[in-house]
Amino acid sequence: MEKRFDPFLAHIYCEMKPYLSKSRLISAWQCAKKLHLEKHHPELGVISSQTESLFATGNEVGDIAQRLYGTVQSVEVAFDFKTMLADTKRLIDGGADFPIFEATFRHEGVLIRADVLIPDADGWRVIEVKASTSVKDYHVLDCAIQDWVLRNSGINVKSISLAHINNQFVYQGDGNYDGLLLENDLTDEVREMERDVLELVAKARDAVTGPMPLINVGTQCSKPYECQFMSYCWPMDAEYPVTGLGGGKAKLAAWVNAGCRDIRDVSSEDIDAELQQRIHRVTVSGEAEVIPGAREILEALPYPRYYLDFETIGPAVPIWAGTRPYAVIPIQWSCHIEEPDGELRHEEFLDISGEPPMRALAGKMIDCLGDSGPVLMYTSYEKGVINGLIEMFPDLEDPLQGIVDRLVDLHPIVKAHYYHPKMLGSWSIKAVLPAMAPSMSYAELEGINEGTGASDGYLEAINPETDRVRKLELKEQLLRYCRFDTEAMAEIVRFLAKA
Ligand code: SF4
Repeated sequence: MEKRFDPFLAHIYCEMKPYLSKSRLISAWQCAKKLHLEKHHPELGVISSQTESLFATGNEVGDIAQRLYGTVQSVEVAFDFKTMLADTKRLIDGGADFPIFEATFRHEGVLIRADVLIPDADGWRVIEVKASTSVKDYHVLDCAIQDWVLRNSGINVKSISLAHINNQFVYQGDGNYDGLLLENDLTDEVREMERDVLELVAKARDAVTGPMPLINVGTQCSKPYECQFMSYCWPMDAEYPVTGLGGGKAKLAAWVNAGCRDIRDVSSEDIDAELQQRIHRVTVSGEAEVIPGAREILEALPYPRYYLDFETIGPAVPIWAGTRPYAVIPIQWSCHIEEPDGELRHEEFLDISGEPPMRALAGKMIDCLGDSGPVLMYTSYEKGVINGLIEMFPDLEDPLQGIVDRLVDLHPIVKAHYYHPKMLGSWSIKAVLPAMAPSMSYAELEGINEGTGASDGYLEAINPETDRVRKLELKEQLLRYCRFDTEAMAEIVRFLAKA
C-alpha cells in the first residue's frame, strides 16, 4: 500500500532538509513560536487523541476525494521525499492529461502536495480537500500558498478550489459518495494574497532559523488548532494550574502572562465571574465545598433507578444508509439498574458486526428501561442522542419520548452542589469521580478510557480488515469503558446522598 502524506513525518523530514511544508507555514501563521518548537523541540509537544483522530479523518476524506475525482488513468504520487518531486515533474512534463493526486512541487524551499490536479485545457484545475463543513480563513491561506508555489513552478493554474464536506449529504448506502464534497472556487481570493504568502514565508523562515520567538500565551494557543505545546507554554505543572479557572482564553492568558501559575496566585479581586470566584475560593481553602440540597433532590427519586450512558460515533464519511456526515450515531449503551436495597444490576448493548446497530440498540434500550423509574444521565448529551433516534425511527417515538420524559440530568445537580479543588474547574464525570471516589479511576482502564478512543475503537472493531483477536479485545475495552461510566454515575449519586 502506498504511504499517505503524514504531516508529522513531513515535519521530521523538514528537520533534515531545508524545506518549509505547507503545514509548517500554517503553524507559523498560528504562532511563530509553535513552528520554532516543531522544528527544534518537537519532543515537547503532546499530540492528543482528538488531534490524531482528526488526521485519520482527513486521510479518510482524502481517499473518498480520490474516488470521486479519479479516472481509470489517474495517478497518485507516492509519498517519498527522494522521488516525489521528480515523479511529479515526469508526469507534468510527459503531458499527463488525467487527474494527479498528491502532485508535489517546491518553490523557494516551500514544499506542497496538491490533493487533486485535474487537466483543464492548457492548464490545471486545483482542488484542496478538507474534512471541515465550511471554508475557514486558514483554508484560503492554504490555497494561496499552493497557488503561489504551483504558479512559480510553471503550472498554469486555471482555478483553485476548496472542497469540504457537505453536511446535508445523505448517504444511500450504495458506495456512491457523489455529493459528499462541496467545491468553493477561491481563485480570485487567493490571487490577492500573494503578499500575505510572501510575508508568511519570511516569518516562517525567521522562526525556523532564529532564536525562539518571545510570544506570550494567548487565544492563538487553541485557534485554529489546539497547539501541541500547551503543556510547555502554559503552567500545566502547577498543583492547580490557572487554566482550571475556566472562562475565556484571553483572560486566562492575561493572568499567566502576569506571572500567575497556580489558581492561588490570582488575586480574588481580579476575578469577576461568579463561577471563577467559586473555583478560586474553594481552591484557596483546599477543602471540598458541599452546598446542601443535592441529597433531598436525589432522595426524592423513586426506584428502580436507571443509570444510562451512550457511546457514539460521528464519521465524516457516512457508513450506513440514511445517515449524514458527522451525524451523532449511537453504537453502544450501558445501563446500571439500582433497586431500593442499593443493589446494582447491569445491562448493555454493543454490536460490532458492522451492520447498522441503531434500530436494535433503540429496541433493546426500550426493553431495558421499561416504562417507569428515573433515567439518570450526565449532561444533556443522552437526551440529544435519544431525540436523534426518534428522528431515525418515528415508529418508536412513543416509547423513546417516554424515556426522554424520565431523564434526570446529574450534571447540573453536581455542579450546583459540589466542587473540589482537584476538579480543576471541570464538572465532567472524569473530573468529578476522582474527587468523590478516589478508588475509581478512568486512567486505570486499559486501552479505551475516553470518548474519542471509544469512537475510534468501535470504527476499528467493525473494520473488516481488523483481525478477530483485536476485534474481541476492542469489544471488551468498549464494554468496560461504557460500563465504568454508568458505575461512576451510581457512585456519584451514592456520594451525594451521604454528603
Ligand atoms: S502554546 Fe501558544 S504560545 Fe506556545 S507555541 Fe503554542 S500557540 Fe504559541
